[in-house]
Amino acid sequence: MSKTRTAAVIGAGFGGLALAIRLQSAGIQTTVFEKRDKPGGRAYVYQDEGFTFDAGPTVITDPDCLEQLWALSGRRLCDYTTLLPVTPFYQLCWEDGFRFDYADDQDALDRQIGAKSPDDVEGYRRFLAYSTDVYREGYEKLGTVPFLNVGSMLKAAPQLMRLESYRSVYAKVSQFIRDEQLRQAFSFHSLLVGGNPFDTSSIYALIHALERKGGVWFAKGGTGALIAAMVRLFEELGGRLHLNAEIDRMMESEGRVTGLALGDGQIMRFDQIASNADVVHTYRHLLRGTARGDANGRKLGAKRHSMSLFVIYFGLRRQHPELKHHMVLFGARYRELIDQIFKGHSLADDFSLYLHAPSVTDDSLAPPGHSAYYVLSPVPHLGNVDIDWDVEGPLYRDRILKYLNDRYIPGLLDDLVTVRHFTPFNFRDELNAHLGSAFSIEPILTQSAWFRPHNRDDVYPNLYIVGAGTHPGAGIPGVVGSAKATAGLMIADAHQ
Ligand SMILES: Cc1cc2nc3c(=O)[nH]c(=O)nc-3n(C[C@H](O)[C@H](O)[C@H](O)COP(=O)(O)OP(=O)(O)OC[C@H]3O[C@@H](n4cnc5c(N)ncnc54)[C@H](O)[C@@H]3O)c2cc1C
Repeated sequence: MSKTRTAAVIGAGFGGLALAIRLQSAGIQTTVFEKRDKPGGRAYVYQDEGFTFDAGPTVITDPDCLEQLWALSGRRLCDYTTLLPVTPFYQLCWEDGFRFDYADDQDALDRQIGAKSPDDVEGYRRFLAYSTDVYREGYEKLGTVPFLNVGSMLKAAPQLMRLESYRSVYAKVSQFIRDEQLRQAFSFHSLLVGGNPFDTSSIYALIHALERKGGVWFAKGGTGALIAAMVRLFEELGGRLHLNAEIDRMMESEGRVTGLALGDGQIMRFDQIASNADVVHTYRHLLRGTARGDANGRKLGAKRHSMSLFVIYFGLRRQHPELKHHMVLFGARYRELIDQIFKGHSLADDFSLYLHAPSVTDDSLAPPGHSAYYVLSPVPHLGNVDIDWDVEGPLYRDRILKYLNDRYIPGLLDDLVTVRHFTPFNFRDELNAHLGSAFSIEPILTQSAWFRPHNRDDVYPNLYIVGAGTHPGAGIPGVVGSAKATAGLMIADAHQ
């Protein structure tokens, strides 16, 4: 390969960084441009009054997909950062007092399922076998294959039919499990990657097997420590990362993209360009005024987008060892609430929450005797509901904190040291996310694999996409998998 090959990656999210490491490891001189002052994208970090808050991803699954990034240059992830196992994976709580410790311990699972619904012990085993089957077909075989043409989709079709991928996650779980709360316990996972369990393809049931097989991990010091480790690896390999460097537009000429224009007017030229930015932003804004950009921007903008999130980061002057690291707090309604979030036109009065309590695993995230948290509530994206989050945000924050104070963390309101929140407006304005979506294009069957924006653009042969908006989709294993698929294309193209 010629030494003069250069590549640019727009955006330093997990996908952008993983791609940059792969390209740099293959000898392609790679430069990453990130608009914010820190890398990580959704995995940004806030530091307030001695507390460290991971902004987004905290559940690390499939550590192998990360290890591979270090192995490319003969290095080891464990020399850069430490992954701690999390037990139980999650604690699931309902308002009627039922709690379920979802752990990687078959006996403990059987005991809890048997106590709740004896018939479902056998059903759960069959569900796990199904989930493992889907994991092999959907993740191991297809997760890092770029679906560039319809032929690749047709090749996968028989397996997708056999696995009944046209059914929803919830419908499939319900074939095996009868108890409604256990159905929720084994179907909520698709929400973690922006999928409605009642609409998303049952292929996403693979997340269960992924967790059982690879475990659930937490990076010591927070997910930000993992991002810092990826940046260190990339820079040691000779890559360059520019922060506070928002790309304003891509330059194109004679059917190829040729360079990037930064906000200050500077233009830099590259042989290959990959965008880790939101896909609608990539086409509609960065390629504005071009036939491809305008047409594809319109097309992608009209697709179904995942819900948004409302996230509150808070620090307390007390510790709560009775909490678990990852907690899912189901509200009174499940299907109806999810419907309202994905399809409704108003903000629900009730909520289901994910509570992150990392101080249970890692005491470095808060001052001594204190504890750090975030709580998130899935909310409709900006295309569905007209809410002024600047006004509603503080009110919604206070409702959620009071709910936690009354039900799960007594004394929370008295013990608050610091609090901040992130709304759909922030997803839109800080991350350039279309409609403020937290997970990009919704992962339904008709927007997956070949139907998702391709890892290489259909028109510009040297423009590539990486991250949640392309195949396979959102979540750390998803976007790190997309980086493998995209890097494979870029490296092969660079050889031509
Ligand atoms: C609150 C929350 C919790 C989550 N929890 C989990 C979890 O526990 N486990 C899990 O696996 N997944 C989780 N996810 C999903 C996961 O975080 C995302 O799918 C994934 O991190 C997205 O990565 P990405 O590569 O697509 O890039 P992103 O993180 O979206 O980063 C894109 C980057 O591009 C930058 N950018 C945009 N426009 C420009 C421009 N014009 N110029 C320069 N830079 C630009 C942005 O600033 C951003 O840094 C969570 C998501 C959220 C929001």
